[in-house]
Amino acid sequence: MKQLGYAALLLMFIIIIIPFILVRGCSQEEMPIQEEKEVGEKLYTIRVYIKEEDKVVEMNFNEYLKGVLAAEMPAAFHIEALKAQTVAARTYVYHRIRNNQRAGIEIPEHKGADICTDHTHCKAWVSKKDAMAKWGMLSAQKYWDKIDRAVDDTANLIITYEDEPIDAVFHSTSSGKTENSEEVWGNSIPYLRSILSEGEEYSPKYTSTVEVSIDDFRSRLYNSRPGMQLKEDIRECVGEAEKTEGGSVKTIAIGDQSFKGTEIRKIFHLNSANFSIDVQDDKVLFYVTGYGHGVGLSQYGANYLAEQGKTYQEILKYYYKDVRVVLVEE
Ligand SMILES: [Zn+2]
Repeated sequence: MKQLGYAALLLMFIIIIIPFILVRGCSQEEMPIQEEKEVGEKLYTIRVYIKEEDKVVEMNFNEYLKGVLAAEMPAAFHIEALKAQTVAARTYVYHRIRNNQRAGIEIPEHKGADICTDHTHCKAWVSKKDAMAKWGMLSAQKYWDKIDRAVDDTANLIITYEDEPIDAVFHSTSSGKTENSEEVWGNSIPYLRSILSEGEEYSPKYTSTVEVSIDDFRSRLYNSRPGMQLKEDIRECVGEAEKTEGGSVKTIAIGDQSFKGTEIRKIFHLNSANFSIDVQDDKVLFYVTGYGHGVGLSQYGANYLAEQGKTYQEILKYYYKDVRVVLVEE
């Protein structure tokens, strides 16, 4: 009977006391991180306007990031690419919210929230439930575990340039070179420079073709520049393109007008501004390379670097020039 008592005591020690000691030990080690959490308070709860459901939901910043990661990058990508994407997305959102708060700007589209789930406005986001349903039974748990790991292993890390959070823009696929910020948005940003980006050809969106009829070509151009002149033979209307350092169309003369490559991209819904125009008898063909604006981190390029053995920190420092990856501070 006495032996049974000792055994019960021993069992209690194993089941309750040891885990208690271990947990205490761990939480003590984590103290500096706890302090960081208080410092970066604003990163911890975020109000998200879920456009698809027309409601504002308050959630933990890292939980929100998991939804961004699941929506913005294929979960099949290398874990280091997923981590690089996580830190870029965290920095992008943090930078955006902070700038809006500092400038006292209320964004009407956000219905009072900090950020929204409209990918054309902020960043794409998907709930865990919807992401797992999309991946299917066989991959769902494995992929969500990777998402969890990418976000948890990079908790509180952001990218800074001269001690300020950067505008960590990213895109799907470059043309083999990324773009200088000023050639897409007009303003030159020191860490958003054109660099070589290898492995882009593994992206399913590396090349694409858009075909429009001659009539459609004419009418879309007329709509964007009312009053512009186009000759009868379109072949005589399309001039040589001036290129950006990244290889996209900087400007191109069409008819009596000069268009920016980014403008043509928008008018004809091209995957990128890296295109050439082929005017045929009855149609116009756009041969397009890359997918997205081409500035900052390329997701397919990041995945390629990860597969070559680069870490997420190395990937980030490759795509964003002269930056540091640091724990967030307010
Ligand atoms: Zn938004």
